[in-house]
Amino acid sequence: MIGILGGGLTGLTLGSLLPESIVIEKEDAPGGLCRSLNEDGYTFDFGGSHIIFSNRPERLQFMLSVLGEDLVKNRRNTKIYYKGRFVKYPFENGLSDLPLEENFECLVEFLKLRLKRARGEVPEPANLKEWFEYKFGRAIARKYLLPYNEKIWRVGPEEMGTEWVSRIPDPPLEDIIKSSLGIETEGYVHQLEFYYPLRGGIQVLTDTLADRCRSIRSGFEVEHVSRTQDGFRVSGGGESHDFQTLISTIPLPALARVFDETPADMVTAARDLRFNSLVTVMLGIDDPKINDLSWVYFPRREDGIFYRASFPSNYSPETTPEGKSSVMAEISCFRDDDTWNLSDDELVDSVETSLHKNGIVDKDSVEFSRVMRTEYAYVVYDLEYERNVSRLRKFMSGAGIELCGRFGRFEYLNMDACMDDARELALRIGGGE
Ligand SMILES: Cc1cc2nc3c(=O)[nH]c(=O)nc-3n(C[C@H](O)[C@H](O)[C@H](O)COP(=O)(O)OP(=O)(O)OC[C@H]3O[C@@H](n4cnc5c(N)ncnc54)[C@H](O)[C@@H]3O)c2cc1C
Repeated sequence: MIGILGGGLTGLTLGSLLPESIVIEKEDAPGGLCRSLNEDGYTFDFGGSHIIFSNRPERLQFMLSVLGEDLVKNRRNTKIYYKGRFVKYPFENGLSDLPLEENFECLVEFLKLRLKRARGEVPEPANLKEWFEYKFGRAIARKYLLPYNEKIWRVGPEEMGTEWVSRIPDPPLEDIIKSSLGIETEGYVHQLEFYYPLRGGIQVLTDTLADRCRSIRSGFEVEHVSRTQDGFRVSGGGESHDFQTLISTIPLPALARVFDETPADMVTAARDLRFNSLVTVMLGIDDPKINDLSWVYFPRREDGIFYRASFPSNYSPETTPEGKSSVMAEISCFRDDDTWNLSDDELVDSVETSLHKNGIVDKDSVEFSRVMRTEYAYVVYDLEYERNVSRLRKFMSGAGIELCGRFGRFEYLNMDACMDDARELALRIGGGE
C-alpha cells in the first residue's frame, strides 16, 4: 500500500493514478489550495484566484481532460493599477498607458541598459533586484517590479535569489519600443487565453480527482512518521497506518518536524525555509457588471493592502447570482503577523475602502463578504533557499520518502506542474496509468 500525505491537487492526482493508495489529509475536506467557497450563489477560490493555463500543451491537455466539457475559455484582460491609471499587463507591454514623461523614462532606461549590456558593462545579477534591473532597466523595475515583488513576497528583492526567474527570456527590444509608442503587443502569451470551470470554481478539478481516488482519509493530521522494517508508519490523533511506500505532498518544513529521524541541523534548515501566507477577502457586488477585467495588480502600498484583485464574475457568469458581480482581494502576509491578525471586519473594511477610492467598487453596493486565511501560499526564494532545500530533499530521499508538489518539493509550482510532477512519480513508482 502507498501512503500519500496531503490531499491537495498533487496528492489527489497521485491518488487518482495509484490504485493501491490512501490519501491522508488534515483538513475535513481535500483540495488544499484548490478549494472554492460556494455560498449564497457566489463562488470564490479562497486559496487565491486560480486560472487554468500552461506553457506546455500536454500539461494543459491533461488538466482539461480531467475537467471535461463544462469550461469557459477567456481572453486575459489584466491591468496594473498605477497612480490612478490602468496600465496594460505586463507593465513593459503597457508603457503608453503611463504619463508621457514616465513612458519616456522607461524606454530610455531600457535602451541604455541594452547598450551597456551589449558592451559587457553590466555584471550578471546576484539577486532579484539586480535581475529585474538587468532585464527591464531601472525605471520599469523602480515603478512596478520592485514595489510589487516587495508587496507579494514581504522580503526585499535584494534578499531574494533568481532560481525561479532566471530562465525567463529577455523582453524583445521591438516590443518595448512598440509598447512605448502605443502599438499593441502582448507579453506572457501562454497565459493570454485561460480556462475556468463554468460552475463550482477551481474545486471542480480537485473534486473530480477525489472521486477517482481509491481511499481518502480526511481530518487526519500527520503528527509522526517513522520507519518500520518494511516501510513507514504514519500516525496522528491516536490512529496509525503502515505503508510500504510513502509520498509526501505536505509542506517540507512540516514533514521535517514530524519525521522522527530528522537530525537537528535538518530541523534548522527546514525552519529557515521561508514561505508566505495569504488572506483572501471576497466581496459580492449588487451590480451586473462592474468592469470587464480579469484581474488587477496593485504594486503601491497607498492603493491598498492587497497585491491583486481578481474578478471571478468575469471568469464565469455562473460564479454569482444573476445580476451580480464579484471581487476577490489577495493579501500576502506571514502567519500571525499584524495583517493575519486583523479582524475579518477590519480586513473587509480596508479592502472595500481602497477599492472604492480607486474607483473599482462602489462601497455601498457590497452585499456579501467573507475572509479566509491560508498558511502555506507562496514559496519564498531567499538567498539561502537553494542550500536549505537541496539538503532537505537529499535527506528525505535518502530516507526513502518521495517528495512531490508545490510545498512537498518546496518549489514555485503551478497546477500544471504539480499534476505533471504527480503523473511522473506515479509512473516511476509503478502502478500508475
Ligand atoms: C494565491 C495563489 C494563486 C494561484 N493561482 C494559480 C493559478 O492561477 N494557476 C495555477 O496553475 N496555479 C495557481 N496556484 C498554484 C496552485 O494552487 C498550486 O500549484 C497547487 O494547488 C498545489 O497543490 P499541492 O497539492 O501541491 O499543495 P497544497 O494545495 O498546499 O496541498 C497540501 C495539502 O497537505 C495538507 N497537509 C498539510 N499538513 C498536513 C499534515 N500534517 N497532515 C495531513 N495533511 C497535511 C494540506 O491541508 C493540503 O491540503 C496559485 C497559488 C496561490 C497561493
